Amino acid sequence: MSYPDLKITFLGTGTSSGVPMIGCHCEVCMSIDVKDKRLRSSILVQSALTTLVVDTTPDFRYQMLREKVDKLDAVIFTHPHKDHIGGLDDVKAYNFFLKKPMEVFANSLTEVALKREFSYIFVDKKYPGTPKVNLNSINEDSFFVGDILIEPIRVHHLNMHVLGFKFNKFTYITDANRINDTEKEKIKHSDTIVLNALRKQSHISHYSLSEAVELVDELQIPNAFFTHISHQMGKHADVSNGLPDHRKLAWDRLVLHV
Ligand SMILES: [Zn+2]
Ligand SMILES: [Zn+2]
Repeated sequence: MSYPDLKITFLGTGTSSGVPMIGCHCEVCMSIDVKDKRLRSSILVQSALTTLVVDTTPDFRYQMLREKVDKLDAVIFTHPHKDHIGGLDDVKAYNFFLKKPMEVFANSLTEVALKREFSYIFVDKKYPGTPKVNLNSINEDSFFVGDILIEPIRVHHLNMHVLGFKFNKFTYITDANRINDTEKEKIKHSDTIVLNALRKQSHISHYSLSEAVELVDELQIPNAFFTHISHQMGKHADVSNGLPDHRKLAWDRLVLHV
């Protein structure tokens, strides 16, 4: 089967509080470099026929406006933390213009959380204007959204099971601090990986920068972009200078063709 060419747009590359962080006056939060402005982590994945988004962050509305996404076929969720689901209400604009429910793909853990956190979406008698979603259950099996084949990768985020997603030879893993050997096998032959790297110091539920570099080197993946970045990482330009070739910090609005 031939795989469609995909355009990947980084909608956000920040950790849960975003960069700058409210009330913070550190040199990163005060930086005027646009690469130090990080919305919450999400990517847009587009083939010629299909457009999907990985996660609906609290910045989802602005991310869709900024990238002029008039048509969205689906949302696929990594895990139920609020920085990854918080913007779901705004799919109602697509309901209005496309005249159909939004197709949402989530595993059972995320599904339970969506029904709890957005209970008004899932009641029988909905208030007018409430978003309409069609929940599709996913597990570790590959699935299609339109012409895009997606392979879930199970990773560990402290004690939570999070899904990463592999699109042909492009892998996106946003919240993890551990990946077991069978899942590593699945991502080994990627050309490009996006992997979370929170900051330089170690953290209980995210890879640090050196751990992330070590992992992509171990897996021998030619190109790596790090995401879900905290203001504690340091300024984009300073950190980028210290990184090996083909291992880069991602930035908002970066576009890849894979
Ligand atoms: Zn997160
Ligand atoms: Zn998380």
